Amino acid sequence: MFSALQQLTLNLFSDAPAAPTVNCSAPERSSGPTRGPAGEAPRAEPRVVALDGAALPPLPLADALAPASFTHPRANRQARLGDAFVDYEFTRVQRRTIGFVIGPEGLSVRAPRWVPLREVDAALQEKAAWIVRKLAEMRERQQRQESERIEWRDGAEFPFLGETVTVVLDPAHGFAASGGVLDLGADGNARVLRLSLARNASSVQVRDAAQAWLMRQARRIFIERLDHFAPLLGVAWKKLSLTNASTRWGSASIDGAIRLHWRLVHLRMPVIDYVVAHELSHLRVMDHSPRFWETVESVVPDYHHLRRQLKDAHMPRWG
Ligand SMILES: [Zn+2]
Repeated sequence: MFSALQQLTLNLFSDAPAAPTVNCSAPERSSGPTRGPAGEAPRAEPRVVALDGAALPPLPLADALAPASFTHPRANRQARLGDAFVDYEFTRVQRRTIGFVIGPEGLSVRAPRWVPLREVDAALQEKAAWIVRKLAEMRERQQRQESERIEWRDGAEFPFLGETVTVVLDPAHGFAASGGVLDLGADGNARVLRLSLARNASSVQVRDAAQAWLMRQARRIFIERLDHFAPLLGVAWKKLSLTNASTRWGSASIDGAIRLHWRLVHLRMPVIDYVVAHELSHLRVMDHSPRFWETVESVVPDYHHLRRQLKDAHMPRWG
């Protein structure tokens, strides 16, 4: 069995999808890094998902006409790409081609050990327009997400199974083991999560209580859907782990271990079902071949549509 580090390395840098563990289900999420066009992974390859990437400082209005600059926190090289100054992270890796990844932190460039720096510079210039456009798009998206950060207090709102839930701090209730209870609001319509917290609870306390409640719901819902789809696919899952800081929506190991991101519970049930069915399908086909997608389709006929919804899913910042 591969170590976690080896899995990640395989996933990020290898063109060969065959591995004992398949990390996937964040195929083309909009806020994830974008892979460059230079010999990169095929469309079906997993992409990195970043749910809580630190936002870059917004570009001051006065600078709007000045050359843009982009700085990666681990930048070790710089390039002038058109009018833009781009500080990027450069790493030597075992791979066959020069790769560009634009993530929440900025531009990362990975090159084979034998490629001279001038070839790296030439490749950067060749892709300059694409890189600068993607960096600008990433910055704009992060600014939008930043403005959508949840304010954790009485009345905070967040999505649960595709519907908006409003937090109500309810110190009078103990809620025993659960710490919170979901019920209908005063108008009998809106959903309210009553958390057993004092009215002056800190934002961190409110967020942590909401997260604890959501993670319990995630485990319950995921197990129910795993138990629903496993017999339909003729597979047996052995263990469910919730992921958090993970860069994937989910992964499956050949030994039957399934990992799912707890924040999937923000999304509508059919989208969750798609991810669950996707991971269980890997217990039959450990890659993203046509046979794999046929397997997914056998239990989720409209998976195309749901995969698109997952990619476009709206995720408020949680931190
Ligand atoms: Zn997959």
